[in-house]
Amino acid sequence: MTIKAVLFDMGGTLITAATLEEVIKIYDKILQAYGMSYSLDRIAKAHQKASRQLDISRLADVGKDFWVMFNLILLKDLGMDKNQALDLAKTIDREWWDYADVELYPDVLPVLHELKARKLKLGIVSNGLESDIEHVMKKVNLEGFFDVEVGVDTFMCMKPNREVFLKTLKLLQVSPKETLFVGDSLENDYEGARNAGIRALLISRRNNVTNCEVEKIHSFWELLSFL
Ligand SMILES: [Mg+2]
Repeated sequence: MTIKAVLFDMGGTLITAATLEEVIKIYDKILQAYGMSYSLDRIAKAHQKASRQLDISRLADVGKDFWVMFNLILLKDLGMDKNQALDLAKTIDREWWDYADVELYPDVLPVLHELKARKLKLGIVSNGLESDIEHVMKKVNLEGFFDVEVGVDTFMCMKPNREVFLKTLKLLQVSPKETLFVGDSLENDYEGARNAGIRALLISRRNNVTNCEVEKIHSFWELLSFL
Protein backbone atom coordinates (compact mmCIF):
# COMPACT_ATOMS: atom_id res chain seq x y z
CA MET A 1 0.00 0.00 0.00
CA THR A 2 1.30 3.47 -0.78
CA ILE A 3 2.49 5.64 2.07
CA LYS A 4 0.34 8.76 2.50
CA ALA A 5 1.68 10.10 5.79
CA VAL A 6 5.01 10.26 7.57
CA LEU A 7 5.11 10.96 11.31
CA PHE A 8 8.14 11.95 13.33
CA ASP A 9 9.25 12.01 16.91
CA MET A 10 10.81 15.41 17.73
CA GLY A 11 13.75 15.26 20.21
CA GLY A 12 16.65 13.19 18.91
CA THR A 13 14.86 12.68 15.59
CA LEU A 14 14.19 16.13 14.08
CA ILE A 15 16.15 18.20 16.56
CA THR A 16 19.11 17.54 18.79
CA ALA A 17 17.80 16.78 22.28
CA ALA A 18 19.37 18.71 25.15
CA THR A 19 21.57 16.68 27.47
CA LEU A 20 21.07 16.92 31.24
CA GLU A 21 24.21 19.04 31.42
CA GLU A 22 22.76 21.48 28.89
CA VAL A 23 19.48 21.61 30.77
CA ILE A 24 21.31 22.57 33.98
CA LYS A 25 23.13 25.32 32.08
CA ILE A 26 19.85 26.73 30.78
CA TYR A 27 18.53 26.94 34.37
CA ASP A 28 21.75 28.67 35.33
CA LYS A 29 21.45 31.24 32.52
CA ILE A 30 17.85 32.11 33.40
CA LEU A 31 18.61 32.33 37.14
CA GLN A 32 21.57 34.61 36.39
CA ALA A 33 19.38 36.80 34.19
CA TYR A 34 17.17 37.32 37.27
CA GLY A 35 20.15 38.10 39.49
CA MET A 36 20.54 34.72 41.14
CA SER A 37 23.72 32.76 41.19
CA TYR A 38 24.22 29.14 42.23
CA SER A 39 26.90 26.63 41.30
CA LEU A 40 26.02 24.22 38.49
CA ASP A 41 26.41 21.39 41.00
CA ARG A 42 23.88 22.96 43.30
CA ILE A 43 21.39 23.40 40.45
CA ALA A 44 22.02 19.82 39.32
CA LYS A 45 21.21 18.56 42.83
CA ALA A 46 17.98 20.55 42.93
CA HIS A 47 17.13 19.27 39.47
CA GLN A 48 17.68 15.71 40.61
CA LYS A 49 15.37 16.25 43.54
CA ALA A 50 12.65 17.70 41.30
CA SER A 51 13.05 14.75 38.90
CA ARG A 52 12.51 12.33 41.75
CA GLN A 53 9.45 14.13 43.11
CA LEU A 54 7.83 14.80 39.77
CA ASP A 55 8.84 12.11 37.32
CA ILE A 56 8.66 12.95 33.60
CA SER A 57 6.37 9.94 33.08
CA ARG A 58 3.65 12.03 34.76
CA LEU A 59 3.75 14.69 32.04
CA ALA A 60 0.61 13.34 30.37
CA ASP A 61 -1.57 13.36 33.50
CA VAL A 62 -0.26 16.64 34.92
CA GLY A 63 -0.38 18.35 31.51
CA LYS A 64 0.62 21.93 30.74
CA ASP A 65 1.45 22.94 34.34
CA PHE A 66 4.04 20.19 34.64
CA TRP A 67 7.14 22.36 34.14
CA VAL A 68 5.92 25.12 36.44
CA MET A 69 5.44 22.52 39.17
CA PHE A 70 8.82 20.99 38.37
CA ASN A 71 10.56 24.38 38.50
CA LEU A 72 8.82 25.16 41.78
CA ILE A 73 10.27 22.08 43.47
CA LEU A 74 13.70 22.92 42.05
CA LEU A 75 13.63 26.55 43.19
CA LYS A 76 12.34 25.71 46.67
CA ASP A 77 15.20 23.27 46.99
CA LEU A 78 17.56 26.14 46.15
CA GLY A 79 16.13 27.90 49.19
CA MET A 80 13.66 30.35 47.67
CA ASP A 81 10.50 31.21 49.53
CA LYS A 82 7.18 30.09 48.08
CA ASN A 83 6.03 33.34 46.45
CA GLN A 84 9.34 34.21 44.87
CA ALA A 85 9.71 30.62 43.70
CA LEU A 86 6.26 30.54 42.11
CA ASP A 87 6.84 33.72 40.09
CA LEU A 88 10.20 32.52 38.91
CA ALA A 89 8.90 29.00 38.17
CA LYS A 90 6.41 30.55 35.75
CA THR A 91 9.04 32.84 34.25
CA ILE A 92 11.42 29.95 33.59
CA ASP A 93 8.61 28.03 31.91
CA ARG A 94 7.67 31.02 29.74
CA GLU A 95 11.21 31.98 28.76
CA TRP A 96 12.82 28.53 28.51
CA TRP A 97 13.03 28.42 24.73
CA ASP A 98 14.61 31.88 24.57
CA TYR A 99 17.59 30.38 26.39
CA ALA A 100 17.68 26.91 24.84
CA ASP A 101 19.58 26.27 21.62
CA VAL A 102 17.56 24.21 19.21
CA GLU A 103 18.92 22.84 15.98
CA LEU A 104 17.54 20.59 13.29
CA TYR A 105 19.83 17.77 12.26
CA PRO A 106 21.33 18.82 8.90
CA ASP A 107 19.65 16.04 6.90
CA VAL A 108 16.16 16.91 8.18
CA LEU A 109 15.16 20.03 6.27
CA PRO A 110 15.95 18.92 2.69
CA VAL A 111 14.15 15.61 3.21
CA LEU A 112 11.12 17.26 4.80
CA HIS A 113 10.83 19.54 1.78
CA GLU A 114 11.11 16.56 -0.54
CA LEU A 115 8.32 14.75 1.35
CA LYS A 116 6.15 17.84 1.19
CA ALA A 117 6.80 18.14 -2.56
CA ARG A 118 5.56 14.55 -2.87
CA LYS A 119 2.28 15.65 -1.22
CA LEU A 120 2.67 13.44 1.84
CA LYS A 121 0.90 14.36 5.05
CA LEU A 122 3.47 15.14 7.71
CA GLY A 123 3.19 15.17 11.48
CA ILE A 124 5.00 15.25 14.80
CA VAL A 125 4.16 12.95 17.69
CA SER A 126 6.23 14.01 20.68
CA ASN A 127 6.30 13.10 24.35
CA GLY A 128 6.69 16.82 25.08
CA LEU A 129 3.96 19.40 25.59
CA GLU A 130 2.18 21.01 22.62
CA SER A 131 3.51 24.42 23.66
CA ASP A 132 7.08 23.09 23.56
CA ILE A 133 6.58 21.67 20.07
CA GLU A 134 5.24 25.06 18.96
CA HIS A 135 8.19 26.94 20.46
CA VAL A 136 10.70 24.59 18.91
CA MET A 137 9.09 24.74 15.47
CA LYS A 138 9.13 28.52 15.64
CA LYS A 139 12.83 28.49 16.51
CA VAL A 140 13.73 26.29 13.56
CA ASN A 141 11.46 28.20 11.16
CA LEU A 142 9.03 25.34 10.65
CA GLU A 143 5.99 27.04 12.12
CA GLY A 144 2.88 25.73 10.36
CA PHE A 145 4.88 23.25 8.30
CA PHE A 146 3.39 20.05 9.74
CA ASP A 147 -0.20 18.97 9.20
CA VAL A 148 -0.43 17.86 12.80
CA GLU A 149 1.59 18.38 15.98
CA VAL A 150 0.72 16.02 18.79
CA GLY A 151 2.09 16.39 22.31
CA VAL A 152 1.25 14.53 25.52
CA ASP A 153 -1.46 17.08 26.31
CA THR A 154 -3.21 16.62 22.95
CA PHE A 155 -4.84 13.33 23.94
CA MET A 156 -3.51 13.21 27.52
CA CYS A 157 -1.58 10.17 26.43
CA MET A 158 2.10 9.35 25.90
CA LYS A 159 4.05 7.13 23.53
CA PRO A 160 4.41 4.13 23.53
CA ASN A 161 0.65 3.92 24.23
CA ARG A 162 -0.90 2.92 20.89
CA GLU A 163 -3.83 5.30 21.42
CA VAL A 164 -1.66 8.34 20.76
CA PHE A 165 -0.66 6.91 17.37
CA LEU A 166 -4.15 5.82 16.39
CA LYS A 167 -5.74 9.13 17.38
CA THR A 168 -3.13 11.01 15.35
CA LEU A 169 -3.93 8.89 12.29
CA LYS A 170 -7.60 9.68 12.78
CA LEU A 171 -6.81 13.40 12.68
CA LEU A 172 -4.89 12.90 9.44
CA GLN A 173 -7.50 10.50 8.03
CA VAL A 174 -4.98 7.85 7.10
CA SER A 175 -4.78 4.18 8.05
CA PRO A 176 -1.83 2.55 9.88
CA LYS A 177 -0.83 0.80 6.66
CA GLU A 178 -0.57 4.13 4.86
CA THR A 179 1.73 5.57 7.51
CA LEU A 180 5.43 5.52 8.25
CA PHE A 181 6.74 6.49 11.70
CA VAL A 182 10.31 7.66 12.30
CA GLY A 183 11.82 7.98 15.76
CA ASP A 184 14.97 7.42 17.80
CA SER A 185 13.48 5.54 20.74
CA LEU A 186 13.14 1.79 20.40
CA GLU A 187 10.41 1.55 23.02
CA ASN A 188 8.45 4.78 22.58
CA ASP A 189 8.65 5.24 18.83
CA TYR A 190 9.53 2.00 17.10
CA GLU A 191 7.65 -0.49 19.24
CA GLY A 192 4.85 1.95 20.03
CA ALA A 193 4.13 2.61 16.36
CA ARG A 194 4.36 -1.10 15.47
CA ASN A 195 1.88 -1.96 18.23
CA ALA A 196 -0.51 0.40 16.48
CA GLY A 197 0.07 -1.45 13.19
CA ILE A 198 2.22 1.32 11.71
CA ARG A 199 5.42 0.61 9.85
CA ALA A 200 8.24 2.15 11.85
CA LEU A 201 11.85 3.03 11.20
CA LEU A 202 14.31 3.57 13.99
CA ILE A 203 16.71 6.39 13.27
CA SER A 204 20.12 5.54 14.62
CA ARG A 205 22.37 8.43 13.60
CA ARG A 206 25.39 7.27 15.54
CA ASN A 207 24.80 3.68 14.47
CA ASN A 208 24.48 2.71 18.13
CA VAL A 209 21.59 0.27 17.74
CA THR A 210 22.96 -3.20 17.23
CA ASN A 211 19.69 -5.14 17.28
CA CYS A 212 19.50 -6.38 13.68
CA GLU A 213 15.84 -7.30 13.86
CA VAL A 214 14.95 -3.63 14.01
CA GLU A 215 14.30 -1.83 10.74
CA LYS A 216 16.59 1.17 10.94
CA ILE A 217 17.97 4.11 9.01
CA HIS A 218 21.04 6.21 9.73
CA SER A 219 20.03 9.40 7.96
CA PHE A 220 16.80 11.01 6.79
CA TRP A 221 17.91 10.53 3.19
CA GLU A 222 17.37 6.77 3.52
CA LEU A 223 13.74 7.46 4.31
CA LEU A 224 12.99 8.20 0.68
CA SER A 225 13.60 4.61 -0.36
CA PHE A 226 10.70 3.48 1.88
CA LEU A 227 8.10 5.53 0.04
MG1 LIG B 1 13.23 11.13 20.72
